[in-house]
Amino acid sequence: MTRKDFALQSVCAVAACAALPAFSAKGKPMKEIELEKLPYAEDALAPVISANTISFHYGKHHAGYVKTLNGLIAGTKYAELPLVEIVRASAADGNAAVFNNAAQTWNHTFYWNTLAPAGTGGEPSAALSAAITAAFGSLEACKAALADAAVKRFGSGWAWLIAEGGKLAIVSTPNAETPIVRAGVTPLAVVDVWEHAYYLDWQNRRADHVKDVIGKLFSWKAISDRFAAV
Ligand code: MN
Repeated sequence: MTRKDFALQSVCAVAACAALPAFSAKGKPMKEIELEKLPYAEDALAPVISANTISFHYGKHHAGYVKTLNGLIAGTKYAELPLVEIVRASAADGNAAVFNNAAQTWNHTFYWNTLAPAGTGGEPSAALSAAITAAFGSLEACKAALADAAVKRFGSGWAWLIAEGGKLAIVSTPNAETPIVRAGVTPLAVVDVWEHAYYLDWQNRRADHVKDVIGKLFSWKAISDRFAAV
C-alpha cells in the first residue's frame, strides 16, 4: 500500500466517507457488495406482499444489511471475496457480525428471486416435478411441508426447499442462518418468516401469509432453473 493509499484508507475509516473507495486488507480498492435490483416493481407482488412492505423490507432491511456488511468488511480479508464466500468464511471463523449481515444479504436476494408476480411463476419442470413426487408424493404435499416448516419456525428465520445428494428436502433456519454454508446443499426456494416480511400486511397471521406466498407468488420457473443447475 502506498502512503497515499494509506492516508485515504485512514480518512475513510474515520469519516466513513462515501466519495473515496474502501480498501481490502491488502490495500487494494474494494469492490463493494451491491444491493441487487428487485426483479419486479415494488407493487408487483400485491396484495400478498404490498408495495409498502417491500419498500421497508427491501429498501430498509435488505439495504441495511448490505450497507452494514460493506462497513464491516472494509479493510478485512473478506473484502476481496464474493458474497457467498464471505458467508462461508465468516461462518467458519465464527465472525457473527459479518456472517449475519452477509447471510441476510444473500438470503434476501435469493428470496426476492424465488418470487414472481401472481400468475407468472409457471409450473415445475418435468425434472423438478419428478423429484418433488419422489420426495413428497405430490406438489401440494411439498407446498404443505414447506408451509408447515415456515409456520413452526419459532421467532425469526427462513424455511427452505433444498436439494442435497439429488434429493429434495425441507429445512428451516433461525435468524440469518442459511443452508449455503453446508457443502453439497443447493437451496431451491425460500420463505422469509421474519416478522418484517409480513407484519405490515398480515400482522400475526403468519400462516395465511406463508400459504399465499407459496401458493401464489412462487416462481416455479426460477426454482426449476435452480434445480436444473444442481
Ligand atoms: Mn427479511
